[in-house]
Amino acid sequence: MPQLETVVAEIAAEMAARPDRGTVATYIPELGRVDPNQFAIAVALEDGSTVCGGDCGTSFSIQSVSKVFTLTLALGLAGDRLWNRVGREPSGSRFNSIVQLEQERGIPRNPFINAGAIAVTDTILSGHQPREALGEILRFLQFLADDDGVHIDRAVAASEERSGFNNRALANFMKGFGVIENTVDYVLGVYFHHCAIAMTARQLAKAGSFLAHQGRNPATGHSVVTAERARRINAIMLTCGHYDGSGEFAYRVGLPGKSGVGGAILAIVPGKASVAVWSPGLDASGNSHLGRIALEKLTARMGWSVFGAPTMADG
Ligand code: GLU
Repeated sequence: MPQLETVVAEIAAEMAARPDRGTVATYIPELGRVDPNQFAIAVALEDGSTVCGGDCGTSFSIQSVSKVFTLTLALGLAGDRLWNRVGREPSGSRFNSIVQLEQERGIPRNPFINAGAIAVTDTILSGHQPREALGEILRFLQFLADDDGVHIDRAVAASEERSGFNNRALANFMKGFGVIENTVDYVLGVYFHHCAIAMTARQLAKAGSFLAHQGRNPATGHSVVTAERARRINAIMLTCGHYDGSGEFAYRVGLPGKSGVGGAILAIVPGKASVAVWSPGLDASGNSHLGRIALEKLTARMGWSVFGAPTMADG
């Protein structure tokens, strides 16, 4: 097996040279200002070290990758009761689709599509002021990354507050079905701000580490969730983490993963590593174009797919 350091350096160089970079999301105007010629990869290992390549020290908007961490918090608060208000099935629809919500009486298909993540945020908000709920989410990420530099990009949050008409429609629709408990504006305020959390690839890889190591963060030694819960969150990432591109991601990369429209992907190699990649240009499903390609190369070269390592016959 090749050295991880060599593979990461090769991938960073290959990605820097590629002319195809995807298209930066513009429906949140502030994200449209990000330079598409950036790429970062960070691999956090069990001994607490990280192997990085590209623009690893640059902070980016994690957007929907934050939904992995809000799901973890909400499961901690509500346990399996969470599954009464959000499902665990892939949607096969776009990330902000409203179509299934009507047929399924306001219960979102899974916690990673926007409707599901808004319901998860509502769970965290219950019994708290929006500021407290947001503070709890931010502190959780700082704790997991073991780094107080994780912060909220207020310009991105304000930009989404101004342009988040689809999310307002989803939240109001769910409120109409009695699925949302709190004031819609408060829920959305917390949701927009946790999507606007900004971190580096190195910080994000470290934050995801507990999912690769049976719920325990190997760098800090803290047990974050039980091994069973970590396994289940990974299962939802594998089946639902890339919206209507989840099947393609499993086929090509073969890892539990969660993408965000800021161009980040967090991928988990159970028992081995937590990997963060970032490149702002997206493919047609709204997932990072180069991020997905980089992960495909990493899993192939390291033999890290959960479905088995490549053999000589793979060529
Ligand atoms: N804040 C984004 C939205 O709600 C998140 C979507 C994403 O990252 O996929 O539209």
